[in-house]
Amino acid sequence: MEVSPAIERYFENLAAGLDSAMALAAAARARGLDPRTEIEIPVASDLADRVEALLGYPGIAARIRELEAEMSREEAALRIGDDFAARMFGETTTEEILDHAIRGAMALLTEGVVAAPTEGIAKVSLGKNDDGTDYLKIYYAGPIRSAGGTAQALSVLVGDYVRQALGINRYVPRPEEVERYIEEIRQYNNIMSLQYLPSEKELRTIITNCPVCIDGEPTEQQEVSGYRNLERVETNTVRGGMALVVAEGLALKAPKIVKNVKKMKMAGWDWLEEMIGGGGAAKSDDDDKGAAVKPKDKYLRDLIGGRPVFSYPMRKGGFRLRLGRSRNTGFAAAGLNPATMHILGDFLAVGTQMKIERPGKAAGIVPVDSIQGPTVKLRSGEVRRVDDAAEARRIAGQVDEILDDGEILISFGEFMENNHPLMPPCYCEEWWRLEGGPRHPASELEAIEFALDGIPLHPDYTYLWDDVAPADIALLADRISAGGRIEGGVLTLPDTPEAKAILEELLVPHRLSGDRIAIPGYLVLLACLGLTLHLDKRPAWENAPLENSLDLVMHLSGFSIRSRAGTRVGGRMGRPGKSKQREMKPPPHSLFPIGDEGGSRRSFQAACASRPRSNTDGGVIEVDVGERRCPSCGTFTYKNLCDCGAHTRPVLRCPKCNQEIGKDMCPRCSVATVCLQKVSINVRIEYAAALANLGVRESAIPLLKGVKGLISRERPVEPIEKGILRALQNLYVFKDGTVRYDMIDLPLTHFRPDEIGVPIERLRELGYTHDIYGRELVETDQVLELRHQDILVSEDCGEWLVRVAKFIDDLLVRVYGLEPFYRAEQPLDLVGHLLMGLAPHTSAGVLVRLIGFSKAGVGYGHPFFHAAKRRNCFAGDTEIVVSDGRQWVTVPIRQFVVENFDLSNPGLDRAGTFYSDPRQPFYARSIDPQGLVGVKKITSVSIHRAPAHLIRFVTGRGKVLSVTPDHAMLVWDTDYLRKIRALEVKIGDRVPVEEGGLVISDVV
Ligand SMILES: [Zn+2]
Ligand SMILES: [Zn+2]
Repeated sequence: MEVSPAIERYFENLAAGLDSAMALAAAARARGLDPRTEIEIPVASDLADRVEALLGYPGIAARIRELEAEMSREEAALRIGDDFAARMFGETTTEEILDHAIRGAMALLTEGVVAAPTEGIAKVSLGKNDDGTDYLKIYYAGPIRSAGGTAQALSVLVGDYVRQALGINRYVPRPEEVERYIEEIRQYNNIMSLQYLPSEKELRTIITNCPVCIDGEPTEQQEVSGYRNLERVETNTVRGGMALVVAEGLALKAPKIVKNVKKMKMAGWDWLEEMIGGGGAAKSDDDDKGAAVKPKDKYLRDLIGGRPVFSYPMRKGGFRLRLGRSRNTGFAAAGLNPATMHILGDFLAVGTQMKIERPGKAAGIVPVDSIQGPTVKLRSGEVRRVDDAAEARRIAGQVDEILDDGEILISFGEFMENNHPLMPPCYCEEWWRLEGGPRHPASELEAIEFALDGIPLHPDYTYLWDDVAPADIALLADRISAGGRIEGGVLTLPDTPEAKAILEELLVPHRLSGDRIAIPGYLVLLACLGLTLHLDKRPAWENAPLENSLDLVMHLSGFSIRSRAGTRVGGRMGRPGKSKQREMKPPPHSLFPIGDEGGSRRSFQAACASRPRSNTDGGVIEVDVGERRCPSCGTFTYKNLCDCGAHTRPVLRCPKCNQEIGKDMCPRCSVATVCLQKVSINVRIEYAAALANLGVRESAIPLLKGVKGLISRERPVEPIEKGILRALQNLYVFKDGTVRYDMIDLPLTHFRPDEIGVPIERLRELGYTHDIYGRELVETDQVLELRHQDILVSEDCGEWLVRVAKFIDDLLVRVYGLEPFYRAEQPLDLVGHLLMGLAPHTSAGVLVRLIGFSKAGVGYGHPFFHAAKRRNCFAGDTEIVVSDGRQWVTVPIRQFVVENFDLSNPGLDRAGTFYSDPRQPFYARSIDPQGLVGVKKITSVSIHRAPAHLIRFVTGRGKVLSVTPDHAMLVWDTDYLRKIRALEVKIGDRVPVEEGGLVISDVV
C-alpha cells in the first residue's frame, strides 16, 4: 500500500503497539495459569490472512494474494474455484470442494469479517435430478444477510463455476418446486420485508433457469401452506436465507452477476441478461422510482410505547431532506439541527437511533448546526424558526405546536447503499450557490435583487409554497389586500383562523399583536403573493395559473422559486443510544464454578458458608469441572497449573466406555468425548488462599460472584485471584474471559482538540501535528483530520477503561509476576493505548487507538474503521475489548465457528448474536448470553445440561452422530431451536454436524 510518510509512521506505531501488547500477553500465558500457554488468536493483517484465519484452509491466503495482484476481487473469488476443484487446499470429497470454494469466495467478497461465509451457508450437498444426474444444492441460513446482496448472488455463481469444473449437472427444478419458491419468497416478504420482492415472472425465470439449487435452513416460525412435503425440499418451514439469496441477491444484483458471467465466459446464464433487458431487475428499478415517491410506512410498524413518532410518511411538517455530509454523518448517521433534538422533547440524543422512512430503515442521529432547525408555534401564537440549541431549550416549554421538524442531513451514499433512487432535497444555500447565488443575501431587499437578476430566490426567503393550495394563496393575498396595513416596518393583517393557518403552513415567521397578525419580514411575501407595497393585487393576478402553487407564485412574483419542502422523510424514535459495561445476567466477577451453593447471586461468600451435609466442613461444594493431567508428575487435577509447577493438559474421555481418547470422537462407541470430572472443592479454603496470595483482606470484597457451572467443552476453571481483582475494580467478566463495553458507533472524519479533552501536546505526540489546512497545531480550535484507526470513546467509557487498566496491571503484577503495563490513574493516561473494536455478527476485531473522549454516550471512529467492521452506525453496538492479561481479544475464529453452534460453550462469544438488532431481526430472537437457558422469545424452551447423557443419530449424510443434549440445541434461530428442543429430535429434523472444521446441517 502506498501511503504518506506520516501515515506509514502511524501504521508502524500501531503495529509496534500491538506487538508489545502481544509479547506481554504471551509472557503472561507462558506462566501456565491459563488453559493454554500460548495466545490462540491469529493476527490478520490483510484480507487474505483474514480469509485463511476465518475458514482455516491452509495456503489460501497466499493464493488470494497472487490472484488479487492480477484481477479484481470478484474475479478472484470465482477463479479460486479452479484451485479448489484441483484440490489444492486438501479437499477430499466433491461436496467438500464445493463447500470450501463457496465459503472461500464468500469470505473474500465479504472482507473476511462477517459471519456469512461460515454461518450463512449451512451446508452444500448434491441432489438428484429426475434423469439420475447430480445437481448442486446450497443451503443458506439466516446470517447470509450479513454478506449483502452482491456477495450472496456471487456465491451462487461461484457454486456454479465449480460445479461446471467438476462436471456436475445443473439443477432441473420440478414444476411444484418452482411454485413452492414463489409462494415461500412471498410469504417471507410478509414476515420480514425484503428489500426487493421480485415479480412472479422474475421468480419463475430465476428458479427455472438458475443452474444451482438454492436451498436453505428453516429460519421462520411459519410454514408454507401450499406445495408442502415435497420430496426434494426438506422442510415446510419458510427458509429466509434462500429467500434473501433469490430476491436480494440474484434478482436485485442481476447486473453484477451478468458482468462476472461475461468476464468469466460462463455458460448457462444468458437468461439473466434477458431478465434484465426484458422487464426484469432493470424495469423494477423504474418501478422503484415510481414507488419511491410514494409514502412508505414500514418504519411505523412495531411501534413501541414511549417511543414517539416524529412525523408521518412524506407528510407536511416532517423532516425535510437535505443532501450532504458533515464530519459526523454518513454511514447511516443522519444530521439534525441540535435545536430539533431539543424541540422534539429530547428523545433524540447523540447516537439515538431513529427509524426513518427512507433511504434506509434507520439512522443514528447526530447534531449538525449548519442545517435548519424546526419551526414552532408558541402558546402566544408566535411562529418562529429555531436554529439555536440554547434558544430551543429556553422556549421548549412554550411550544404549542411543532409546525416543521426542520432539515435532516442525509448523504448521497445512503441512497446508493440502500439502492434507493435519489430524492429531491429541499432548496438550500449550497444549491443556490451552484445556481449562481453570489453571497448570502444581507437583507430581504438584496434577496429580491438577486432574484430579479434571474437567480432563484434564496432558500432563506423561500416559503413552503408547495404545501399550500393555490386557492389558499389567493385567499391570503385577498385578506392582506383587503385588511392589511404596513406600519412601522411591519405588515399586519386581521387575525383570522384561515389566514393564520395559511401563514403557519407556509412557515412565515409572525407574531400576534392584539387582534392582528404581525409579519416583520414581508417584502418577499408580498412579492410572491402578487401584491404591491400598497397591498394592491398586481395585474399578474388576471392570468394567474391556479393549478400549481409554485407555478402560481413564480408567475406572480416573476422570480424563479424552488421547492423548499423538497422531500419529507418520516421518522420515529428507535433505540436509545447505549454506552455501558457489557454484563452477563447475572454478572460474574469470576469464571469459577460454585454450583447451587452460591445461591441466585452465585456468591462465593454464600458458597463458603454453605454446609450441605451436617458432617462436612463448611464450604465444600461438588461441581463439574474439566479433567486435566499434569504431563510432568501425572497428577489429575482441574487446575491449569499443577502444584508441581507444570502446565496441565485437558483429558478427553469417552462418556460411554470411559476410555481416555485424544480425539473428539470415541472410535469404538462413535460418541463425542468429554472433558469432565465431578470434584469436591473446598471453596472456603480456596478463596481464603486466593485472598492471601493477593494480600487482599476478606472485608475488601463484600460480594464476589462466580458462575453456577461450566459448560464449555474443556470446562477450564479460572484462578479465583482473577475474579477477586475484577471485583476490586467493579468489573464483570464476559464468558470468554474478556471484559467488554458496549457503545453505539458513530462516524467522524474531523475533530477539534477542544472537543475531545486532550491537550495539544499529547495530540502532537500522537502524530496530530498539523490541521486540515496544513498549519502547525497550536490552538485547541484547529480542525484535525481523524486517523483511520483512531477512536474517541464516551467519558464514561474512559473511566471504565481506567478501572480495566488497573485490573490488568494488578493481574500482571500480583498474579503473573510481571511488570505493570498501563500505570493509568485517569482516562487521559490511556490516550494512545490500543483497543479492539468488535461488531455484532462479525468475527474479527479491529485494532484501534484511543485518542480522546466524547461527552456524548457514543464511540466515534473513522468511517474506514466502521467499514472495516462492515457495520452501520445505528446498528452497531461496538464492543471495546481489552486484554485481560490472558489474551488479546478478538474471537478465535475457527474455534468460534465450530463451537458457537454449541451453545453450551461459555468460553466464546457469537458477538452480536446475543444482541437485539432491529435491523436484522434474524438475530433479534436471540440467545441468553449465559448460554444456559435460552432463547428470548421462546418461553417454553429450556434445555437442561446433562453432559453424561448422549443421543445417537444417523443422518442423511450417513453420519452416525452423537451429541450431548445441549450440543443439540445450537444455532441462531428460533425455529431451529424449536425443532430440536428438549432432546426431542425427531426423524427428519436437522442437526448440525461437523465436517472439515465447519459445522453444517444435516437431516436425522
Ligand atoms: Zn505436576
Ligand atoms: Zn467409547
